[in-house]
Amino acid sequence: MFAARYVPGQKELSLTDVPKPKPGPQDVILKVRAAGICHSDLHVLHGEVPYKESFTMGHEACGEVVETGSQVTEKFAPGDLYAVHGPNPCGHCNFCRSGHDNLCNDPSRTFIGLGQDGAYAEYMKVPARNIVKVPKGISPEVAAVATDAVLTPYHAIKAMGQVQMGSKVMIIGLGGLGMNGIQIALALGANVTACDLKEPNLEMAKSFGVQTVINSKNLSVLEPQSYDVVIDFVGLEATFKDAQNFVKPGGTIVLVGLGSATAPVTTASAITYQIRVQGTFWGTHIEMEELYDLIAAGKIKPQVETAPLKEVNHWLHELAEGKIKSRMALIP
Ligand SMILES: [Zn+2]
Ligand SMILES: [Zn+2]
Repeated sequence: MFAARYVPGQKELSLTDVPKPKPGPQDVILKVRAAGICHSDLHVLHGEVPYKESFTMGHEACGEVVETGSQVTEKFAPGDLYAVHGPNPCGHCNFCRSGHDNLCNDPSRTFIGLGQDGAYAEYMKVPARNIVKVPKGISPEVAAVATDAVLTPYHAIKAMGQVQMGSKVMIIGLGGLGMNGIQIALALGANVTACDLKEPNLEMAKSFGVQTVINSKNLSVLEPQSYDVVIDFVGLEATFKDAQNFVKPGGTIVLVGLGSATAPVTTASAITYQIRVQGTFWGTHIEMEELYDLIAAGKIKPQVETAPLKEVNHWLHELAEGKIKSRMALIP
């Protein structure tokens, strides 16, 4: 079968033919229907994550179950779509058993498509416990990108930011994740201010019904210390400084973007005003089920473009150049 594989030291994926995977006892084989491309792929290709072995890339996957391992008792109907929970948790450690399976650090856990064979292929192998049924009416491409580009902001905003009805929320950075983030915050009943440097992104944010849309150059018109939660989807020193400036006393800053390796905390105000700086990582299996219900209900409309999988290197290049407007899914 066709697969696009990471090879250590190469800047592009190798387009090649590999054997179709066989399921282990507790695995399923998915016929891949769509695979999202992501900035994490670029971090790997640019050598920031030093994987020593080759693997098929692609960690945002949706497909149909076509084969099951000997111990898998669940039945899967042809045509039904399943999405993959990319953190691929072990299922038995204390993090997994308490519902915090995004934090699983069991040695058996490997991220699907990041160090282990993933979705840039015709078929992929996944533990049966780590797939989620996609409700009818959601397309494979939306289901695929939702596994990261909706799940990550959902976890950041709902679980880590504890955003709820009436929360005043500032969202910094309106790329693929931020744009889904504003829809999630609105669906939770928040009053949202969306900031970005690019006017077209601000226009799109307006179309989702955000209460306040403002160019990041003009933030000085906003009242300092006036937001319950600030979600920083950029993660540069400058955006983290803005976040500290606009978060309320007792409020929370959620760091999602990895724009800069470090960003200073202004200790005097963080201490005096009891500011919480909160990290966030991907999302949980249960949250995936919740967010597909929100998508099925039309409350979140992830923007997705599609292209053939064989063009993966071209689109990774476009992603690196910032030319993909929202998110992109590849179709094998
Ligand atoms: Zn991703
Ligand atoms: Zn675990």
